[in-house]
Amino acid sequence: MPSASVQEFLHDLLQQLGPACLKTDPSLISGHLVDWRGRYQGRASAVLFPDSTQQVAQMVRLASKHRVGLVPQGGNTGLTGASVPDDSGEQLVLSLSRLQAIRAVDQANKTMTLEAGVTLAKAQEQAEALGLLFPLTLPSRGSATIGGNLATNCGGTAVLRYGNARALCLGLEVVTASGDIWSGLRGLRKDNTGYDLRDLFIGSEGTLGVITAAVLALSPRPAALMTALAKVSSVESAVGLLGLAQSKAAAQLTGFELMTWSSLDLVSQYFPALAQPIKGMGSADLVLLEISSPSGEAEAVALLEDILSRALEAKLVEDALVAQSIQQAQTFWDIRDHITLASSEDGHQIKHDIGLPISCIPEFMTAMRQELQDLLPGVRIINFGHIGDGNLHYNVACPVRPESWADRGQRQKACADFMHAHEDEIHRRVHDRVVSLGGSISAEHGLGVMRRDEAAYYKGPVEIGLMRAIKISLDPLNILNPGKVVLV
Ligand SMILES: Cc1cc2nc3c(=O)[nH]c(=O)nc-3n(C[C@H](O)[C@H](O)[C@H](O)COP(=O)(O)OP(=O)(O)OC[C@H]3O[C@@H](n4cnc5c(N)ncnc54)[C@H](O)[C@@H]3O)c2cc1C
Repeated sequence: MPSASVQEFLHDLLQQLGPACLKTDPSLISGHLVDWRGRYQGRASAVLFPDSTQQVAQMVRLASKHRVGLVPQGGNTGLTGASVPDDSGEQLVLSLSRLQAIRAVDQANKTMTLEAGVTLAKAQEQAEALGLLFPLTLPSRGSATIGGNLATNCGGTAVLRYGNARALCLGLEVVTASGDIWSGLRGLRKDNTGYDLRDLFIGSEGTLGVITAAVLALSPRPAALMTALAKVSSVESAVGLLGLAQSKAAAQLTGFELMTWSSLDLVSQYFPALAQPIKGMGSADLVLLEISSPSGEAEAVALLEDILSRALEAKLVEDALVAQSIQQAQTFWDIRDHITLASSEDGHQIKHDIGLPISCIPEFMTAMRQELQDLLPGVRIINFGHIGDGNLHYNVACPVRPESWADRGQRQKACADFMHAHEDEIHRRVHDRVVSLGGSISAEHGLGVMRRDEAAYYKGPVEIGLMRAIKISLDPLNILNPGKVVLV
């Protein structure tokens, strides 16, 4: 039974906005209460579905009046438990999924203004229809929303060339914790008029305001893209290849992803048809390179071939596979995108989303592998990610137990048991090393609840004190996504 304040909130909400603005049937709202990985199971008596910015503002005002916590939610694909309520039953989910309008496009300014619930895939399609590119891209693009992308300041596979979500957003419309509407939908690339409120809300994971619309910056579409898989014998070689590719292609290098053998092996096991093209590459680590060209395919091919032949000569690369068609290039990306899905099929892993200076990555990988193997012999390190921008998904998985591995239930139980037994220690060891090398414990996924306390531990009192001061000043009643990012 929800508390009196939640009941009064729901009563007032129904009076003001009618029944279409919420769902309470447990079978209809259950999917909104658990995160994508199934690690955080919350409780809530309702999910709210506003259909306009004005309705969001009304809901937040009522929440403020009754002191009810609201958890903004987009596609619920977040990976840190930030998009679901806690298990108190006292918070409600505020879904932005009905805010679907494309409000404006400005072809000459290369911008489009979209509401928060538009999915990333739809935003990409919309840009394509204008003959332009919205370059942000993630494997979860079919469900993840623009509001969620900005609230997490997500990264993905195009950060190397185009930057993360923050770099692609020029303006925002936000409902504040008091229920006011801040209309900052400016399509300006230069605007030095005081504190940057837009940048404060981006990456705040729904704790400072509810994003209801955004102005996105678009880019010209490259005339051609060429993609290759390069087999590297070591991470040093991968870093050497990155330097070579950047020196030859500069900003035309639009993708540079590392996939270690252990992560490719998961794709081979759970999506064997997809992994067919890499069968001939042996048990090797691969780098996926993407080169774009504004002038056409011939230039892209020449550039890619030049980079690969120099890399082969310098023994940075042992072998390479250049995509022969758009379909094959898509398959290469699909292999990369399916690592997370294959991991989830395998079972729980101890996840890390780390950022490191690129120069420190080889040292980190060598020393960390040794430390983890000494600690837990046979442990699998599922390591892949956006090495071009220093971001690795460094995940630690249970040693394979051949006797029970074919059975999904037994396998998943073994993985979950392993995770629960070793998670705290492995997090501490990995993150200690990351921080000692000047790195970050969350490069692109945010803090949510999963990394909140670790961030407090590593950031120290001054930085956390400043974060708290911002939260308290913008949300003094702690209405918006309480308990996430920083405790107040
Ligand atoms: C298979 C898979 C692959 C992924 N790959 C990547 C990747 O490569 N790079 C990467 O960075 N992330 C990745 N993610 C994580 C996730 O997709 C991103 O964090 C995404 O930006 C979340 O968007 P969402 O709409 O699903 O947000 P949700 O999960 O619904 O919410 C995430 C956070 O944003 C807040 N929020 C949502 N909407 C709003 C709003 N309108 N206003 C204010 N706050 C809001 C929520 O409260 C929560 O704190 C991946 C996830 C999956 C499942």
